[in-house]
Amino acid sequence: SFKKSLGQNFLIDSNILNRIVDAAELSKDKAALEIGPGIGALTQRLAQEAGKVTAVEIDQRLIPILSEILAEEEHVDVVHGDVLQLDLAKLFQDKFAGFSKVSVVANLPYYVTTPILMKLLEEKLPLEHIVVMIQKEVAQRMAAKPGGKDYGSLSIAVQYYCTTEIVCMVPHTVFIPQPNVDSAVIKLSLRQQPAVAVDDEAFFFRVVQSAFAQRRKTLINNLLQLTGKEKRPQLTELLEQIEIDPGRRGETLSLDEYAKLSQALKASGLAG
Ligand code: SAM
Repeated sequence: SFKKSLGQNFLIDSNILNRIVDAAELSKDKAALEIGPGIGALTQRLAQEAGKVTAVEIDQRLIPILSEILAEEEHVDVVHGDVLQLDLAKLFQDKFAGFSKVSVVANLPYYVTTPILMKLLEEKLPLEHIVVMIQKEVAQRMAAKPGGKDYGSLSIAVQYYCTTEIVCMVPHTVFIPQPNVDSAVIKLSLRQQPAVAVDDEAFFFRVVQSAFAQRRKTLINNLLQLTGKEKRPQLTELLEQIEIDPGRRGETLSLDEYAKLSQALKASGLAG
């Protein structure tokens, strides 16, 4: 039986499988990490294209099935484990030595999409592309540009590390069992350098988080959480100096503006 708790919805549409694999731009001199291979439909396609495939599956019951389906494929390894618990740097050393380009290709379990992607990005692994099927709304948030309701701290976190492209929308009818939500395939291509230069990444992300803390509030009112309410005059002056209107909303600021804001705020010492 399928385990709903593990997000087990298996993809049965070969067209969509092809779109995912094509987007990853694999070749025999590149490697792929698959997260949650399930019963191996995507894994088999990856095995045809890549020089090496490592698939990490949490559900012990699927391991014998995968091992059997992939028995002939000497360049494919199945690892039993929870990707969120794994030491990925070590996995990369063990499995992908000799491959300078590794891409993640997966139909992700939706309830852990964001933690998995943030783990992949924050660990600064040598990744080329991340091509993943995720819930449609989450894909739209990741790819969103400033100014709309989809744009938020997730958009900024992803776009700080990657360029984004929505490859295709995927209706829920191409899965067994059918999930309740529609999906999209998103392609994240790792930048050589982060999109903006900041001295203190953790502080930059703290500023972004607080700017979006309450969407209906203005930027300055959200930022006062970081500085304390009594600093309103100084914070107003700082925002005016860097030419950001304190009355704007967090969702209108570009990555460049967030970088400028976090640098100025840090230098001012206002945020403690
Ligand atoms: N890739 C397959 C496909 O497209 O048909 C299955 C995708 S299914 C949406 C998600 C898979 O991820 C399931 O096989 C599930 O057991 C596995 N999974 C869930 N959480 C996981 C985790 N933390 N680490 C590794 N695999 C996980």
